[in-house]
Amino acid sequence: MQDFHVAIIGAGLGGLCLAQGLKRAGIRFDVYERDPKPDSRIQGYRIRIDADGQRALAACLPANLFALFQATASISASAGRFLTPQLLPVTGRAPTSWNSDADDDAGDLSVNRQTLREILLSGIEDHVHFGHGFIDYRCQDDGSVETRFESHAQIRCNLLVGADGVNSQLRRLLAPHARPIDTGSICIYGKVDLPLGDAADLEEGTTVVFADGCTAIFDLMRFDDDFTKLAERFAPGCNLTPIRDYLYWALIGPRRRLGLTDDDIDRDPRPALEGVTQDWHSSLKQIIGRTDRHDIAALPVRSGRPDALWPPGAVTLLGDAIHAMSPAGGLGANTALMDAHALSETLANALATSGAPNALLLYEADMRERAIRAIDASERGAAMLFETKA
Ligand SMILES: Cc1cc2nc3c(=O)[nH]c(=O)nc-3n(C[C@H](O)[C@H](O)[C@H](O)COP(=O)(O)OP(=O)(O)OC[C@H]3O[C@@H](n4cnc5c(N)ncnc54)[C@H](O)[C@@H]3O)c2cc1C
Repeated sequence: MQDFHVAIIGAGLGGLCLAQGLKRAGIRFDVYERDPKPDSRIQGYRIRIDADGQRALAACLPANLFALFQATASISASAGRFLTPQLLPVTGRAPTSWNSDADDDAGDLSVNRQTLREILLSGIEDHVHFGHGFIDYRCQDDGSVETRFESHAQIRCNLLVGADGVNSQLRRLLAPHARPIDTGSICIYGKVDLPLGDAADLEEGTTVVFADGCTAIFDLMRFDDDFTKLAERFAPGCNLTPIRDYLYWALIGPRRRLGLTDDDIDRDPRPALEGVTQDWHSSLKQIIGRTDRHDIAALPVRSGRPDALWPPGAVTLLGDAIHAMSPAGGLGANTALMDAHALSETLANALATSGAPNALLLYEADMRERAIRAIDASERGAAMLFETKA
């Protein structure tokens, strides 16, 4: 077991959680990430971690880092208001996985994504290699896997795990038929620091706005304390970037409904959004309009079912790399974290007994079942969000 070495492609939430789980189980690992630095680009802002995601984090992280994760969660009310674009109440359209009245969601934690990544990086920095874009791999006769990177580096490992997200290069090679489909929708998101001035009516927990054919969410992120102080208290040595309280917003809907084309993904979406939101309440328009261009990102919504099978061996996948899903259900990261926990636990058990190949089959069967349930829930959520007026 001491010689077994896992190479993880991708230092997103899933890949880093797996790395922490392996560290805890005493299994050797290294993570290879294409971005040159942890904060090279916006990977998102507010992320909601449900009870399953929290259980996975608790199982993989050391107790003090898990306590830090909890302490850095937003303290603003999580109960949601479901409103029209004029900020009047609506009923009956919330996806079940968002319903704040459901017992299952009572303990969701909203955290800042970069902060969660920084916590997940803590203590394993020496094993996370940035600037290592994965290119390809070759399985060797002795059961090991040789892996090549854009940096010309080459490594050998006993297990190669693709946690490289929705555009996974590892999935392209291992399971080319599992390519996710473009749903035709887009998610545009951004943040504005507090105070909100004239838009202070949005400084109230979560506001979900159901418009004709698209949906917007505004989520207040108010933190208990300065992150540097929290890190000193719970996990000295963990470097957290200070984050000011902010309002997160995201708009999701079919591209044509939002007045965007396939080529617009890297352009400033605000002019198109001005048209979409022209009849909306002034607070909503103001927040979107005054978001700094650098704080806005747009992503096409893709969905990929994990039913493709691949030859058993020493290569596998987790997270969005094999089961991308619409953010409408808020389940993608939670499912990736559960994959990470399941894979680290299954590997630890198997290495102590029968060996890794059986472990992979068990993990993959479990991952497929879990992901199909999450994708179904996300699709139901998306259908509800994009309802149009008859
Ligand atoms: C706006 C928005 C809001 C969301 N909110 C939620 C939410 O509240 N709750 C929730 O559960 N989910 C949410 N999701 C979904 C969630 O973000 C994803 O499901 C989650 O990030 C998947 O994690 P991952 O580790 O599989 O992939 P990623 O987080 O995408 O990480 C993949 C990593 O691999 C790296 N990589 C890519 N290619 C290579 C390569 N060739 N070589 C090396 N490294 C590579 C990438 O740079 C990246 O760091 C949201 C998504 C969006 C877009």
